[in-house]
Amino acid sequence: MLVSALTDLGRVRRVNEDALHVGGDLLVVADGMGGHAAGEVASQVAVATISAWPDWSLPAQALRAAFTAANEAVLARAAQDTAYTGMGTTMTACYFRGDQLFVAHVGDSRLYLHRQHELSAVTHDHSVVGELMRIGGLSKEEARVHPQRNVLTRALGAGVHLDVDLLTITLRPADRLLLCTDGLLNMVNEAEINQILSACKAPADATARLVHAANDRGGFDNITIIVADITKEDLA
Ligand code: MN
Repeated sequence: MLVSALTDLGRVRRVNEDALHVGGDLLVVADGMGGHAAGEVASQVAVATISAWPDWSLPAQALRAAFTAANEAVLARAAQDTAYTGMGTTMTACYFRGDQLFVAHVGDSRLYLHRQHELSAVTHDHSVVGELMRIGGLSKEEARVHPQRNVLTRALGAGVHLDVDLLTITLRPADRLLLCTDGLLNMVNEAEINQILSACKAPADATARLVHAANDRGGFDNITIIVADITKEDLA
């Protein structure tokens, strides 16, 4: 599998509160929130928890357990220091096992599947506008510029109970996966993302051009992107 990962401060923020992991058949992006760099701590604690998860023999169960442990770790860290009170993070993770991709997701970072020049979102946003879109009250483009687009309905660190979306997709050769945080999505629309993914043969070109596009339009937020190309050999 060919993978490229990039995280970028953007052009406005002083701290990068996003985190990512690539390795051990696992890809993760997380987008932390909370004042005074607490978001940075939340996303790092969550990603460190899942990337150190010891047992992947049953991937779906492992993802659920790792997300639960990550939630507890963020809450425990927040309880240690009042500077971290209320911090939280999104997390989107996928784990490869043969042609099955196990996906776990909380928040408004996203996993996309790019297949035969078509881009489709695998995850649903856990945000106010995401829920409105799901019941048909808001179009994709209205949602993208909505003033409340950053208000999450689910996040790690928000409470002891965590609902995790778990799903599985069957991969095909030449599939391309895109994991990203909202720093890309709020700046670059899906048609453009699709165009860039279709135009760039190498994953590293795609990540570089996507980050460039987000910064070109203002780079209001941290931008984190993972692009992974699936080959026939990966699916055996
Ligand atoms: Mn963000």
